[in-house]
Amino acid sequence: MGKICVLGTGYVGLVTGACFADLGNQVKCVDIDRAKIELLRKGLIPIYEPGLEELVRRNQKAGRLTFHTDYASGIEGADFIFLAVNTPSGSEGESDMTYVLQAAEGIAACLNRYAIIVNKSTCPVGTGDRVAATIKRVNEKAEFAVVSNPEFLREGRAVADFMEPDRIVLGATDNGAAQVVADLYSTFNCPVIITDLRTAEMIKYASNAFLATRISFINEIAAICDALGADVKEVARGMGLDKRIGSSYLDAGLGYGGSCFPKDVRALEHMAAINGCHPQLLRAVMEINRDQRHIVVQCLRQVYSSLEGLTIGILGLSFKPDTDDMREAPSLEVIHLLQVEGAKLKAYDPAVTVTTAAKMLRDVQICSDAYSAAEGCDALVVVTEWNEFKQLDKRRIRELLRKPVIIDGRNIYEPEEMEQLGFIYYGIGRGQHNE
Ligand code: NAD
Repeated sequence: MGKICVLGTGYVGLVTGACFADLGNQVKCVDIDRAKIELLRKGLIPIYEPGLEELVRRNQKAGRLTFHTDYASGIEGADFIFLAVNTPSGSEGESDMTYVLQAAEGIAACLNRYAIIVNKSTCPVGTGDRVAATIKRVNEKAEFAVVSNPEFLREGRAVADFMEPDRIVLGATDNGAAQVVADLYSTFNCPVIITDLRTAEMIKYASNAFLATRISFINEIAAICDALGADVKEVARGMGLDKRIGSSYLDAGLGYGGSCFPKDVRALEHMAAINGCHPQLLRAVMEINRDQRHIVVQCLRQVYSSLEGLTIGILGLSFKPDTDDMREAPSLEVIHLLQVEGAKLKAYDPAVTVTTAAKMLRDVQICSDAYSAAEGCDALVVVTEWNEFKQLDKRRIRELLRKPVIIDGRNIYEPEEMEQLGFIYYGIGRGQHNE
């Protein structure tokens, strides 16, 4: 069993630390955010992620998982140092490497024995070499290897995804180091790809860009379905049953969001452009995604001549179900566009707390359930496909709304049923705009 240090205790770092501890390793998690570490030491989880709290508490209790704010005590005795810090978008769409390079400098200052530095943060191709050069610059005697180990977990299913991955990707210049990291995952029954650093880094970007492309593809098809009177849900089903295509990431809606797809597609486009490529497909993917956010205002304009003074209810603030993460959530843009039109906003999300919402939104009344969000509204918009929205008492919703207008931004309802119930219903690509 290994001695592991994980730098960064966000969605990726905390899940990585807790899961490796659960597999029997000795894990120290380090974060520069003192308040977060204080909470974690008390067994409290700063994020909403199913199963994580129990996992953290169990391993803390067993003495396999500890939390630190200083690198020296976190790195002391570690055989593996995992980097799981954030890599946000820079102003030109590039990946901002500030936190990764700060972490590399911090490691260099404390490294007094051989360790393998494993990068799980999504970083531009070439980062492995940059991390190695940074460590050498700060501490020329440091003995280490750098391995890229991109993470593919999905928020909302992070623990299960970590424990049952489709594949493990490892990139290194030192094949032996990659092999030692592979041993950490030896209990998992999945293929392990060992390749060079740059290829491993590229696999992560290409995977996310491909999934984002599928979403934008089906959204473009949805627009065409609307124009031609076809139903995109049936089209996607018909396509997805083809084994060459598959059904995942073929749900038309208000577009992708979150802390990964938007920034990773932007970063790949940036990397391509500055290296002399012409990434026109990636640009189209981003453009289609941007357009999807306008659909809500476009539908409302078909019912109301002006949105000034209307009250609109929003169901779902997180970027997808089963998470409280609102980073680049479609809700943010949809709400902004409605506010620009002069509408007043009410919203409800099952996981996003009032405090989190207040950090990201202005002048939105946060409600305690879907019914109070609908009450007195001129329209209700489904932005996130939480399960609890699928089984709402629709008659009650209809009675609570001032006018029974529903914009189903995730196609969770059936147009025919909604119309029979007396709603003015708009889905995405359900062929209604042709009627
Ligand atoms: P996050 O913002 O939730 O967490 C990052 C943490 O790192 C924060 O707690 C921050 O305080 C800490 N941090 C920043 N600088 C630090 C430093 N120098 N030393 C120690 N801690 C530091 O981020 P996340 O969502 O966990 O993502 C981390 C990385 O993993 C990103 O590169 C992201 O693209 C990638 N990733 C994320 C997901 C996901 O679903 N969230 C999935 C796969 C890959």
